[in-house]
Amino acid sequence: MFGLVKFIHLINCIIFNIVIILILTKKLPLKRMVRKSKIIFWIILISNIFSATLQFFCLINLDSNIWYHLGADCLGIIGQSTLLIGVVWMKLIAEPSPRPMKILAIGAHPDDIEIACGGSIAKLCDAGHTIVGLIVSGGECGGNSSSRRIEAMKGAEFLGINKVEMMDFPDTRLDNFVLEISKQIETVVNELKPDIVFTHSVHDIHQDHRAVHYATVRACRNLSTILCYESPSITQKFQPNVFVNIEQYIDVKIESIREHEDQNKKSYVQPEQVYGKAIFRGTQAKLKQAEGFEAIRINLPI
Ligand SMILES: [Zn+2]
Repeated sequence: MFGLVKFIHLINCIIFNIVIILILTKKLPLKRMVRKSKIIFWIILISNIFSATLQFFCLINLDSNIWYHLGADCLGIIGQSTLLIGVVWMKLIAEPSPRPMKILAIGAHPDDIEIACGGSIAKLCDAGHTIVGLIVSGGECGGNSSSRRIEAMKGAEFLGINKVEMMDFPDTRLDNFVLEISKQIETVVNELKPDIVFTHSVHDIHQDHRAVHYATVRACRNLSTILCYESPSITQKFQPNVFVNIEQYIDVKIESIREHEDQNKKSYVQPEQVYGKAIFRGTQAKLKQAEGFEAIRINLPI
C-alpha cells in the first residue's frame, strides 16, 4: 500500500517538474497563443512548484500530515487545470481568411513594427496571411546594433512573420538615402506583390520614419492599399481613419515588444503606455483596444 502511495507521489513529482521545465523554457507557447497568458503562466508555474515540492516531501516522508498530501494534490489540480483551460479555452483563434493575402510591413528600426502594429500583424498571421517584414536600419544609434538585429528576428518570429529582411542603411541618416531605400523596397514589392503594405506615417518627427514613408510610397506607387502606422514619434497631425481591433492581441503585442530587451528602458515600450494607446485608439474606433492607421489609399475587398 505504502509502496503504491510512494509510486504515485513519485510520478506526480516527475510530471510537475516536467511542466515547470516546459513553462520556464517557453516550450509551451503560452505567451503567443493564449489570452491573459501572463496570469496563466504564473498560476501554472507557482502551483506546480509548490505541488512538486510537497509531492517530494510526501515521497520521502510518508508519515507526514494528511494536509501535506491534500495540499500537494490540490495545487497540482489547480496547476494542471489552469494549463488545460489556458491552452484549450483561452487559445487565440483568429478567423481563418477565405482569401489569404500577402502583406509587407516596413520599419525604419528593429522595433518599429512591433510597437506600431504588432497586434494587427499577429492577428493577420493567425488568420493565415503571409507576412514579410522589412527593416531598413540596424538601429545602431539607439542601442547595441548586433543585439537589436537579433531581437528584431525574435520579435518578428514571436508575431509569426514568415520572413524578415534586414537592410543596412545608416540609422538616423535614412533621409539621405530615400531613393536607394525606395529601390530596395521596390525589388521586394516586385517579388512579393503585396496586397497590403504597412509603413511609417508622414506625420512623424523622426527623420528616419519620414524617409521610410516617402521611400515606401514611391516604391509602392502601383499598389492599391498602403496603411501608415502610429510610431511613438508621431505628431498631432496623425489622424487615423482605419482601425484594427486588437482586443484579443494586446498581450501578444506587449510580449513581442518585450523581445526587444535592448530597448526596455524606453518609456514608450512600457506595457501601460502600449495599453493606453490601444485603449485610446479603441475609443475612437468604438472598440475596446485598437491600432489606428492613416490610409494613403485602400482597396476594399468587396
Ligand atoms: Zn523607429
